[in-house]
Amino acid sequence: MKVKLISHTPQPERMVAVAARLCYAPVGGENLFNNLTDLEVEKLVRFIIKSRHLSTTEHIVFTFSIEGVSRALTHQLVRHRLASYNQQSQRYVKFFGNYSYITPPTIKNNPKVFTKFEEMIESIHKFYEEMLAAGVEAEDARYILPNASETKIIVTMNARELLHFFSVRCCNRAQWEIKNLAIEMLKIVKKVCPIVFEKAGPNCLRGPCPEGKFKCEAPPKPSDFDAY
Ligand SMILES: Cc1cc2nc3c(=O)[nH]c(=O)nc-3n(C[C@H](O)[C@H](O)[C@H](O)COP(=O)(O)OP(=O)(O)OC[C@H]3O[C@@H](n4cnc5c(N)ncnc54)[C@H](O)[C@@H]3O)c2cc1C
Repeated sequence: MKVKLISHTPQPERMVAVAARLCYAPVGGENLFNNLTDLEVEKLVRFIIKSRHLSTTEHIVFTFSIEGVSRALTHQLVRHRLASYNQQSQRYVKFFGNYSYITPPTIKNNPKVFTKFEEMIESIHKFYEEMLAAGVEAEDARYILPNASETKIIVTMNARELLHFFSVRCCNRAQWEIKNLAIEMLKIVKKVCPIVFEKAGPNCLRGPCPEGKFKCEAPPKPSDFDAY
């Protein structure tokens, strides 16, 4: 899995502080952006996060390039609606010879099924290529490709959506691959936005686990999400 933060709002925490301060200020946003001190920014952002006035965090956006993940993962990712996505197309990109796939650790580490898994993927891909060679359009040949197929996606989320995404997808209840992605993304944004994301992560970092009978045996520790 390759996860890179390729773009984000400049001075994101200053932007959040400006949005917060504007509500009570006699001057406009430009003035505040240029004149708030670093200490004022820090205090305002801490207050905003603690008081959950999270609309102010919608002004800062983060764009990630994500590669080396499965279509099973991206199918879950794009369920998060308050985000923008662009994904490598299986209609326009033909996987002739260059087909990659993701193998879950439970399959890789199970000698009873691993070889068969690899053989089946290889044979599926061979038939996919046969269909392309026989004139089937890529958009139809792809119907045979599995959830394991490797894909690339760009996602842009604002900080409020990221906080929500981290609360459900860094949780041990989340599927392993999207959980790994969410943890990577959290570690990365913590570096550029340390106060906003200081306590981000699964709900159990901030209070009781809401998962009831699905509660996990070994809840994560805050240090599992430390910034890179
Ligand atoms: C552990 C786990 C298991 C899951 N299992 C399944 C499953 O078996 N089947 C399945 O179909 N899905 C499943 N999901 C996906 C889940 O149902 C959601 O679709 C997904 O997590 C997106 O989250 P969301 O809907 O909270 O918020 P997002 O789409 O990320 O939106 C963020 C928030 O904005 C608000 N919001 C967004 N859109 C609306 C709207 N239209 N109306 C009102 N408020 C809105 C809500 O407060 C929402 O929480 C699972 C998710 C997890 C984490």
